[in-house]
Amino acid sequence: MSTRRPILAANWKMHKTTGEALAFVEKFAPLVAEAGEVDIVLAPPFTALDRVGRAIGGSRVALAAQNVNPAEQGAYTGEISSAMLVDVGCSYTIVGHSERRALYGETDAFIAAKAASLLSAGIRPIVCVGETLEEREAGRLEEVVGGQLAGSLAEVGSDRVDDLVVAYEPVWAIGTGRTATPEMAQQVHAFIRARLCDRFGDGGRGIRIQYGGSVKPDNIAELMAQPDIDGGLVGGAGLDPESFARIVLFHARES
Ligand code: PEP
Repeated sequence: MSTRRPILAANWKMHKTTGEALAFVEKFAPLVAEAGEVDIVLAPPFTALDRVGRAIGGSRVALAAQNVNPAEQGAYTGEISSAMLVDVGCSYTIVGHSERRALYGETDAFIAAKAASLLSAGIRPIVCVGETLEEREAGRLEEVVGGQLAGSLAEVGSDRVDDLVVAYEPVWAIGTGRTATPEMAQQVHAFIRARLCDRFGDGGRGIRIQYGGSVKPDNIAELMAQPDIDGGLVGGAGLDPESFARIVLFHARES
C-alpha cells in the first residue's frame, strides 16, 4: 500500500432513479461513517446529483459526476457544464471513461478540454485510460495507455497534480467479472506512474491511480496491496450499499 490517500469511487453509470439513489445513501452513509483515512466518492447519474449531494452533505462522502462538457455555456443541447456541477456540489468528475470513448467517440483532446474545464472550476477530474483486449494482445498496451495519458492530460499544469486522479481500467475487465491480476494491474500502474513522473516531475509520485475493472469486496485488498494502486473505480459492486461499504471499509482497516 502506498502513502497516497486511498480513493474509492462508485460509478453508477445509467443506474438508479432519484429514489433508488437516496435509498442507497441512507443505507451506505452509516456503514462508512467510521471509515479511516480514505476518500469515498459516489458518482450518480446527473438527475440524482442534486438530491444525493444534499443527502451526503456534511458527511464524509464526496459527490462526483460521470461526465461534463468543457464549454462554459451555450448552444449544447443535452450537455452539462463544470459550473453546473459545482452548483450541485460535485467535487470530482469522471472523464474519458472507456464507454464514452467507445460509444460516443470521445477523443483525448476532448477529454483534455474537459479535465481543464473541471480544474478551473475547482473540481477534481478522474481521468480514465485503458486498453482493449485486442490492443493488449497485439502488444500495444504502452502505446495505447501512454497515448491516452499524454493526450488526456495535455492541458493539466504541474501546479494542479494534487487535484488529479487517474483511473486505469483495462476495457476487457470492465463489467466482465474478469479482473486483471494484482500483478498485471501493478505493472501497468507502474508504467503510468513513470509516465506521470516524466510529465510532472516529482509531482507525479503524489498522483493517485485507481484501478477499475470488476473490483469486488473480495479482490480489493490484494489490488490495494500493490505499491502503485491507490484506489478503485467501481462499477457493478458500487451499486449495492453493503458491497461498496465492504470495499471502502476494507481499505480503511488496511490504511
Ligand atoms: C467501470 O465501469 O468503471 C467499472 C470498473 O465497472 P465494473 O466494476 O462493473 O467492472
